[in-house]
Amino acid sequence: MSPHHAPDVQDASVAERVRNLRASLPRGVTLVGAVKNRTAGEVKSAADGGLAVAGHNYVVPARALRDELEAGHGGAPGLSWHLIGHLQRNKARKALETFDLVETLDSSRLAGTLERLCAETGRVLPVFLEVNSGRESSKTGVPPDRVEDLARRVRDLEHLSLQGLMTMGPRFGDPGDSRPCFRLTRGLAERLAELGLFDRSPPHLSMGMSLSFRVAVEEGATLVRIGTLLFGLRS
Ligand SMILES: *Cc1c(COP(=O)(O)O)cnc(C)c1O
Repeated sequence: MSPHHAPDVQDASVAERVRNLRASLPRGVTLVGAVKNRTAGEVKSAADGGLAVAGHNYVVPARALRDELEAGHGGAPGLSWHLIGHLQRNKARKALETFDLVETLDSSRLAGTLERLCAETGRVLPVFLEVNSGRESSKTGVPPDRVEDLARRVRDLEHLSLQGLMTMGPRFGDPGDSRPCFRLTRGLAERLAELGLFDRSPPHLSMGMSLSFRVAVEEGATLVRIGTLLFGLRS
């Protein structure tokens, strides 16, 4: 039965997997549950297991999921929501209604749009820059040689607070193939930190997924984004 047709019930095994995974992570590493295509019941179960951050790739489905969580499960007040997928500028306003942090800022134009919208309400949005560390293997993110320019641009925007970097690395292949990408991203973060471009010290590094998170932790990740390992395979 696909998750889409499964009854929207809570699942104690999800809570258990969240607890076990959190316990296995070193201090200072935060588990982000990647919740695309998951039900509100699954997210609630993960929150019950101690999940502190939910990551979602898509603005509109994430908003619907949050609303469903409120309506059907009493919400998950302790849960913070991160956007971990590409953001189109025409979805920026809705993204601000849905997410507490944007991990995927990847252009000066998008930064300008978010700045303008946040200024309307006086809100300061924490952001990470997404680094295209695998270059040809991924289409999203800022090329490594453009990251510093974008960081300088963001530093000059009053309503955006640069907190770290995020990267995907290669989607397929051996987890070890991700190591050079994670290492490159960490190096960039160290350089930007020396230049004083982050509002946070040390900066966050969001790297690693179900198959690669141990490598990412070895390379300095402070957030790991895990879907399959917590929720099972998507259909
Ligand atoms: C789906 C997704 C993840 C989690 O991937 P799994 O392999 O299911 O753990 C992490 N980050 C991003 C950006 C994703 O889209």
